[in-house]
Amino acid sequence: MNDVNQQLTTSFNALSAKIVLAGALMLAATAVTAQSTSFDTCIKGLRQSVVSQGITAAVFDRATAGIEPDPDVLKAFSFQPEFRTAIWDYLAGLVDQERVDDGRAKLKEWSKVLAEAEQKYGVDRNVIVAVWGVESNYGRIQGKREIVRSLTTLICADKRQAFFRGELLATLRILQSGDIPQEALVGSWAGAFGQTQFMPTTYQRLAVDFDGDGRRDIVGSVPDALGSTANFLKQAGWITGQPWGVEVQIPANYSGPSGRRTKQSLAQWKSLGIKALSSVSLPDSTQAALLLPAGAQGPAFLVFRNFDAIYSYNAAESYALAIAHLSDRLKGGATFKTAWPTDDAGTSRAERREIQQALLNRGYDIGEVDGLIGAKSREAISEFQKSSGLVVNGRAGQQVLKALRAPVSTRAPKVGG
Ligand code: CA
Repeated sequence: MNDVNQQLTTSFNALSAKIVLAGALMLAATAVTAQSTSFDTCIKGLRQSVVSQGITAAVFDRATAGIEPDPDVLKAFSFQPEFRTAIWDYLAGLVDQERVDDGRAKLKEWSKVLAEAEQKYGVDRNVIVAVWGVESNYGRIQGKREIVRSLTTLICADKRQAFFRGELLATLRILQSGDIPQEALVGSWAGAFGQTQFMPTTYQRLAVDFDGDGRRDIVGSVPDALGSTANFLKQAGWITGQPWGVEVQIPANYSGPSGRRTKQSLAQWKSLGIKALSSVSLPDSTQAALLLPAGAQGPAFLVFRNFDAIYSYNAAESYALAIAHLSDRLKGGATFKTAWPTDDAGTSRAERREIQQALLNRGYDIGEVDGLIGAKSREAISEFQKSSGLVVNGRAGQQVLKALRAPVSTRAPKVGG
């Protein structure tokens, strides 16, 4: 091929590449325009709808000025975790010594407010503080997404429309009342916000002004957050003075009823050979359910009405158990007497940070050392497990921690030859 031909071929290829690129850009541009047009149309429709429900146009316009959909929210909405977190991993991170120590400091710091909340709502202060600790790490992690933007993104992408429309309306009512300024209305991708992580409709039903400044501010006011949590639990049916439950021992080969919804009296459970591992001063007629979070081989619990009250905060048994157990630990209670059925127990947040730091020191990319085991950390752990001959599962468990604590083997210089 001569030079001219070579040049022609090159220019032709370059040209076709440009055409393809231009086509792709045009398509992309069309897609973006179509998306923003439909988003704008959707926002206009929402404006009409909320104004007919008592929100002023000025409040809506201010709340949605310059708004654009948030693609991360849609990703979060359709995210399917690739594996389920084992209950012992979940609890080891949520109820670790750090959260117990922090919680005890908060119990002291806010003792006056907590005494008032206990007095007014009849809810155990240790449970109020445990909810606070699990929901937002005592106010430290409240989420960073703008609520109005997240909710409009979900509504306009047709995700659970009725539900998120209700949440948007409740959010706009918060703005209209002036209880919380818009810049403070940030939270999870789904719209939960504040130190108590209430959804906006929950806020409207149950948040209280507990510091008496005339505003219900669960973002900036600790007393409002604690009072609102107590009020939530009271409305959820909290029975004053009753424990949430008790760890029990079940007979070997137990195959009787279990599950949160299967309730029978303490007397009936006793007749099945189930024994409380600490004293319970409740009448034999008290209704209880048997929880076996890791099957018959792991810790077992009889739970009472107050466990259901905690459960209604966030409908997951593992979540309710974390709060219940943290509240016991705050009171000075011990860890569970029965071990989890695993040979690779979970790690605390301090241990997770240690794992991350050790991986970083060995040259693995784990992102930030934050004690949160995300996709990057799991990948690095898997690689490390593979190179160390461990079971590859990406878990930040005790076995990985132990292996990482072993000194890094340095190759001895070759002597002689
Ligand atoms: Ca207030």
